[in-house]
Amino acid sequence: MVRPVFDRYEPILMSSSATRPVPQKGILEIAPYVPGRSDAPQGVALVKLSANESPLGASPKAIVAHKAVANTLHLYPEGSSRLLREALGEVHGIDASRIVCGFGSDDILHLLAQVYLGPGDEAVMSQFGFNVYPIITRGASAEIVMAPETDYRADVGSILATITPRTKVVFLANPNNPTGTYLPKSEVERLHRALRPDILFVLDSAYAEYVTAEDYSVGIDLVNASQNVVMVRTFSKMGIAGERVGWMYGPEHIVDAVNRIRGPFNVTLSGQAAAAAAARDLDFTSELRAHNAKWRGWLTNALGSNAIRVPPSQGNFVLALFEDAATAKAAFSALRDEGLLVREMHGYGIPHGLRISIGLEEPMRRVVAILKAFGAPGAE
Ligand SMILES: *Cc1c(COP(=O)(O)O)cnc(C)c1O
Repeated sequence: MVRPVFDRYEPILMSSSATRPVPQKGILEIAPYVPGRSDAPQGVALVKLSANESPLGASPKAIVAHKAVANTLHLYPEGSSRLLREALGEVHGIDASRIVCGFGSDDILHLLAQVYLGPGDEAVMSQFGFNVYPIITRGASAEIVMAPETDYRADVGSILATITPRTKVVFLANPNNPTGTYLPKSEVERLHRALRPDILFVLDSAYAEYVTAEDYSVGIDLVNASQNVVMVRTFSKMGIAGERVGWMYGPEHIVDAVNRIRGPFNVTLSGQAAAAAAARDLDFTSELRAHNAKWRGWLTNALGSNAIRVPPSQGNFVLALFEDAATAKAAFSALRDEGLLVREMHGYGIPHGLRISIGLEEPMRRVVAILKAFGAPGAE
């Protein structure tokens, strides 16, 4: 039956006492995401070590590809990011039709939450896991369930203990941000084996390019061997944060569902072009990895020998743990006074920690020289 058009303008359909639009359940309980600060005192050159960006810039090939599309800015991009998916398919040896690209992996994570979570559902994440998971869970009006960690590392037993009949999604960043710790392939598989087949396992491998541990697996095998795992990746940590490009690889049925609600032109023309070139530039990725591994090891040791604890990191950052929150705050200020901007960790429930992105040699040496004064001898 067709309603008469004027009906739409009559206030008689009002069924609530609200006097203004009301957000869905859970939305206003979301603590707004607080990004790292990006200011320095006046006259001091800023070195940003707060957002896990590439210290070597972007792949030169990505920059060329980015410039090359400037003359077609008036055109919509190809909606499925086909050229980028094909590049990723080739480089990673996977089926391009089972890849979905997004404006950052944030986009992908939001889409997954929207597709698989709703009121009454639970999403499990680990205690010091990535901050976006609680936001997207609440955004989908579902419940957040935090699994305690053991010594700043995700704990498979503790994650499994939180699973209930209402669990619909398990989020795991591997390696994790902000702790830097990772679960080896065997542990990730143990976790997956114990999950019901109707629980979506989101394996967020944002820092995969930086992992050097030999018992690590990025997740492609697990996606291939199951129907309930997606691997989520990003270009942000490997030199292209400004263009916002991320992607996922998953089983066909999940790809199909996500594609139904994805923005039809969700990745920009320049983002697709730059990311495809970066994906293919394996030399640049190796260079980034080698630089990072060298200075990550150096920084970890240097802080350790000054009585500042650092959980072993496989990311492009380390988490420095101080005696207490006041010491971390003082250390943050001392670094900032010299233009070295790191990330405070209140938002993650680690107020005695500072996350420090791996940068160039000179800032790394300056960080250690300043932090020396903030160690806790005897607290090892
Ligand atoms: C940085 C980060 C992302 C988000 O990356 P974007 O692609 O920039 O949205 C996702 N997951 C983890 C664990 C991250 O640290």
